[in-house]
Amino acid sequence: MCSLPGSRKPLLRVAVTGGTHGNEMCGVYLARYWLQNPGELQRPSFSAMPVLANPAATAACRRYIDRDLNRTFTLTFLGSTATPDDPYEVKRAQELNQLLGPKGTCQAFDFILDLHNTTANTGACLISEVSQNPFNLHLCHYLQLQNPGLPCRLFQFEPPGTESYSMDSVSKNGISLELGPQPQGVLRAELFSQMRAMVASILDFIELFNQGMEFPAFEMEVYKNLGSVDFPRTTDGHLTGTVHSRLQMGKLGGGALQGWRGPAQPASVYFLETAGDCHVKDDPCYATLQLRLDHQIVHGSQRH
Ligand SMILES: [Zn+2]
Repeated sequence: MCSLPGSRKPLLRVAVTGGTHGNEMCGVYLARYWLQNPGELQRPSFSAMPVLANPAATAACRRYIDRDLNRTFTLTFLGSTATPDDPYEVKRAQELNQLLGPKGTCQAFDFILDLHNTTANTGACLISEVSQNPFNLHLCHYLQLQNPGLPCRLFQFEPPGTESYSMDSVSKNGISLELGPQPQGVLRAELFSQMRAMVASILDFIELFNQGMEFPAFEMEVYKNLGSVDFPRTTDGHLTGTVHSRLQMGKLGGGALQGWRGPAQPASVYFLETAGDCHVKDDPCYATLQLRLDHQIVHGSQRH
């Protein structure tokens, strides 16, 4: 396995950010708790800093106030001259860049773990940019070994442009943890406990890495986005169907708008039209935010 991008140095400056989206409540409540009780974020070699990323959106229990904070950490926004009329999230992104960055510099934090919830039935999912691959692959594999009864999937993505824009892109390495299903503005106890335990495991992994532990080779599955498919609609744009119950919270493990599927599974009925007909298509990409199983084969037995 490859070394960490650019460095095998210990990760000593670590942040855990919650409330990047103000209505995703597990991270909101955990960040608030850790700001008062930081002890469980401490390990022998480092103490992770808790951050409530978007206080105004959190207070309003909204995803964001003016624009999506988790799409605002581009060098264009971060480097722009501040004006009183700037959107709230642009100001906040610049503040966080001063606190945890500056992005792309050697002063930036070593690692940001950004906490999210989704209404989709994704279970536990780590979201990583492809450029962060080696360290994050080992991290996900460690979580899978620690929690064999809890599938923890790794979703890799590349920003549609040339530049990263997410909260965790401010640090030298980073990852997002997504847990679902949970309605927006709602805190579900089992997901809260699950996220808390997974954060502890992630910090444990960083501690093992800092101690110089060697991690053996492994093979794992990763997911990537193959595309999106819209709902069936009338010519004037109104929806004529909803997600079929076979997919929604169903055997495929899919959520209302998001499903995990492998290429070997048969095509299914995705939409139930209001006229009563099923909408069927033999296209493995026919689902909104369809994710395809892919194999990432990791060679050798080097340290990550
Ligand atoms: Zn989110």
